[in-house]
Amino acid sequence: MKMFEEHLLSASIYGGEKRAAEVLACLRPYYPPLHCELHYKTALELLVATILLSQNTAEQVNALTPALFAAYGDTAAYLQARRQDLARRVYPLAFFRHKARYIQESCRILEEHYEGELPRNGYDLTQLPGLSRKGANLIMGELFNEPIGIAVEIHTQRVANRLGWSDGRNVVKVENDLLQTIPPNLWLETGYLLQRHGRAQCHTHAPACATCPLNHLCPSRE
Ligand code: SF4
Repeated sequence: MKMFEEHLLSASIYGGEKRAAEVLACLRPYYPPLHCELHYKTALELLVATILLSQNTAEQVNALTPALFAAYGDTAAYLQARRQDLARRVYPLAFFRHKARYIQESCRILEEHYEGELPRNGYDLTQLPGLSRKGANLIMGELFNEPIGIAVEIHTQRVANRLGWSDGRNVVKVENDLLQTIPPNLWLETGYLLQRHGRAQCHTHAPACATCPLNHLCPSRE
C-alpha cells in the first residue's frame, strides 16, 4: 500500500472527477444496477419502510409491509391506530415499539406541517422521528433524484482510502472528501458501488488486486 500513502500527501481525491468517472464505469458491469431494496408504491410507504429499515434488513421489512400498508393507507390511518396495534404489526422487527412511535410521530408532523406530503428537502426529512440522514438520503434519491450525500460505511471508506479518494479515518471525513469531487448525479451510485466492491473484492486484509477491475486505476494495488 505504499503508493496509497504517497497519494495521501497530495490531492483530496486521486485523479479528480475524470478518474472517479473511470472507476465507476469499470465497477458498473460487475454489480447489479442500483435499485431500492424496499418495496413501496407511495411516498408515505417509502417513508414508513425506511423508518422500519434501521437496525433491520430490507428482507425483514418487505416481509411485513404488504399487510401493514393494506391496514394503514394514509397518515390519518396511522394516527388513528392504537400504538400497541401498530407495534404488534411490526413486532418481528428490532425496536418495534420505537418504530411504531416514530411512524405515528412522523405522520403527525406531515399532517401538521406538510399537508400530509413528504417534504422535498433533506434537512426537513431528517427532522422526522426515526429517520436518519442515511434514510433521508435514500428518500431524496429515490423519490426526487436529489440525494443529499454519499452513503459511506466501513467498506466504502476502505475502498475510498485505497483509491486515494480520501485520507479520512471516519465516514464523515470520507463523505466530505467525496462530495467535493463526485458530481451529485453520481452520489447514490458511488456509495453503492464502493460498498459492493469493498465487500466483494477489496477486502480488509487480503484485497483481490490481481483480479480487480480497478487494478490499472488504483494507487494501492498490490
Ligand atoms: S482490490 Fe486492490 S486494486 Fe482493487 S481497489 Fe482494492 S486495493 Fe485497489
